[in-house]
Amino acid sequence: MLKIEGITKCYGKKEILKGIDIEINEGQCVGIIGPNGSGKSTLLSIIVGILKADSGSVTLDGQIGYVPQDNALMEELTVKDNLEYWCVAYNKNLKQVLEEETYIKALGICEMLGQKVKKLSGGMKKRVNIAIALINHPKYIILDEPCSALDIIYKNEVIDYLLSLKEMGKTILYTSHSGDEIERLCDKICILKEGNILREETIPSLRATFGNDLTFDEMVYRLLR
Ligand code: ADP
Ligand code: MG
Repeated sequence: MLKIEGITKCYGKKEILKGIDIEINEGQCVGIIGPNGSGKSTLLSIIVGILKADSGSVTLDGQIGYVPQDNALMEELTVKDNLEYWCVAYNKNLKQVLEEETYIKALGICEMLGQKVKKLSGGMKKRVNIAIALINHPKYIILDEPCSALDIIYKNEVIDYLLSLKEMGKTILYTSHSGDEIERLCDKICILKEGNILREETIPSLRATFGNDLTFDEMVYRLLR
């Protein structure tokens, strides 16, 4: 289980997170939705440990794979060299990873191995970032707006892939602006607004509140308004 309790964070005098509690059971996929600047990336950075909270705790029992909002790749190097770097860091054999790991094929990595990262499209970079996050077989996968830079085709492919990760039993936490995608993927959504979790709901309970006439985006809009 991933348990987030009482997380607070200020930047200067500005209180960004005012005591966030979220519980994610094993194998669940949870989506965080919130307006721009509501603190989604700040919260994820705290959960993965690259930023320190002012108070509160994060409890988990396994490795995390993290896909940041802005791609974290070495732009001047090829895709292969970027993967090699992380394989060395995780003590894995690149050749074996390329031949054996299903995510390499699913994310279309082999077709871009020789290309320099700076020449790739936003969607291609995002797929490389997701592959890197999976190299060490993490139990938890945390993604910050994984679909934002993607066109409709790759967006759907990434969602399908996240669904298959969920079927493999991975626990997923991610942020998004897109309701339809969240509805396909998530067991539960958390609405982050003004530093608090405004609502934590399962998709069926949201549907029960709003009925079937609204799109998921429309429901979220009403909740955020
Ligand atoms: P979101 O991901 O929901 O768009 P962020 O977590 O990126 O929101 O940012 C939340 C708020 O914190 C924003 O108002 C942003 O300007 C501010 N912020 C983010 N990082 C810093 C920083 N390093 N220093 C000061 N303010 C920051
Ligand atoms: Mg963000």
